[in-house]
Amino acid sequence: MQTARLLIGDEWVDSSNGSTSGTVNPANGEEIAAFAEATSTDVDAAVAAARTAFESVDWRSMTPDARGRLLWRIADLIEENARELAALETLDQGQPTFVSSNISVPLAAQVFRYYAGYATKIEGKVSPVSIPDQFTYQRRAPLGVCGLITPWNFPLPIVAWKLAPALATGNTAVLKPAEQTPLSTVRLAEICRAAGVPSGVVNLLTGGPDVGKALVAHRGVDKISFTGSTAVGQEIVRVSADDLKRVGLELGGKAPSIVCDDADIDAAVQGNLQGGLFNTGQACGAFTRFFVHRSRVDEFVGKLGTAADALPIGPGQDPGTVVGPLVSAEHLERVAGYVRSGVEEGAQLVTGGERVGGSLAGGYFFRPTVFTEVTDEMTIARVEIFGPVLSVMPFDDLDEAVARANGTDYGLVAVLWTKDVVVAHSLPQRIEAGTVFVNQIPLIDPGAPWGGFGLSGWGRELGSYSLDEYTEPQSVFINLG
Ligand code: NAD
Repeated sequence: MQTARLLIGDEWVDSSNGSTSGTVNPANGEEIAAFAEATSTDVDAAVAAARTAFESVDWRSMTPDARGRLLWRIADLIEENARELAALETLDQGQPTFVSSNISVPLAAQVFRYYAGYATKIEGKVSPVSIPDQFTYQRRAPLGVCGLITPWNFPLPIVAWKLAPALATGNTAVLKPAEQTPLSTVRLAEICRAAGVPSGVVNLLTGGPDVGKALVAHRGVDKISFTGSTAVGQEIVRVSADDLKRVGLELGGKAPSIVCDDADIDAAVQGNLQGGLFNTGQACGAFTRFFVHRSRVDEFVGKLGTAADALPIGPGQDPGTVVGPLVSAEHLERVAGYVRSGVEEGAQLVTGGERVGGSLAGGYFFRPTVFTEVTDEMTIARVEIFGPVLSVMPFDDLDEAVARANGTDYGLVAVLWTKDVVVAHSLPQRIEAGTVFVNQIPLIDPGAPWGGFGLSGWGRELGSYSLDEYTEPQSVFINLG
């Protein structure tokens, strides 16, 4: 078995103390690859390489046009290697092939192309100051070395969301993928080098939480962009207080779905099922709390339970699979624990609620689970489960639904199902979430910002908003007197 190595400057190297870890196929629990476990010495070396590259003439003097072409070339290479990348993502993460090949990989390429266009459009402005004889303008300065720390649920597109705008704006990067799913990020780092990214502009450190911690604490890192759990995000903020590092956080979610009395229930069932079980519920924007008007709740629960029960479960490689495995044995146990808490706290199980046995017993498969009779106080209605668990709760009027939808510390995504155009436009303004979908499954597009209110994070990724995340305005005053 080959061991994935670290990329430091232009060298692929073993960890400084030779240590390695393994990553498993969640569909059967078998180890598929080993990867270098970076040490603090490796973190120092990667940050130093990124700093040298940031200050190098090669990178600083690269024209915006050339930088745009470089990003475009990365997108081309992602597409040229799309089948391999999708297979790798499915093998390592478990995601169904239709997700890896139709969403994860194309989205990664699309994001690089989107920011390739921005490389030539990082504009400043001229400010009309009132001091006589001054010409004052602002430019957008890159931040420097960016530590890009990513989670295991969508490894390739999430690293692309960070790396593409970081490079477009002239920064350098140290990538730190999740220890459960490093393989597609290793391949992306190879693609960056093959595309002609100069030495040290993109570095890669594989390994566990300690590698992330060392990057966050490192004084040579100017910015941390982190996607992951809220608890780790809060720790990153505390540690970054020491040097006031710039921090961007995309954290958890507990998305409400409000199904109004006039909703098309069949569309709402299908859309909520896709939104709730996309990537087996391992999505920060997953729909999880279903507030359904009391007049439609029985119909909704009946149809949702039947449809959830009928979804094909299997390894991601199987073309018919809709529900794949959870990412790890540890995560399977966590999800099963939340489901047990639902039953113990009095929720009614409509379907699912158990691990899948038989030929799938070796993998981390959990049946799509629907609960009814859920109250807002129950654990399953409050915490982010990050698995295929859907909780249905009736409501009587829209004011109540909005208050309960907002009754969470998270605020990443919400969805609304209605045929009433006034409700469709007015309700999103009352919902505290970074993105509100109306009659939609969760959609992500490079042109639309992604991020959350409250404990869902700080800042936004994607769209033009990301340019602000990777640049600092700098004013220049010229004396014309
Ligand atoms: P996690 O927070 O445990 O780990 C994420 C990454 O951080 C991994 O690379 C890990 O090694 C590293 N890490 C762990 N502890 C660290 C520390 N103390 N300092 C620095 N780095 C550290 O999260 P996870 O379990 O991999 O991912 C699931 C979580 O990610 C969920 O809560 C989910 O909602 C969130 N998520 C959010 C978004 C979004 O866009 N808002 C997208 C995907 C996932």
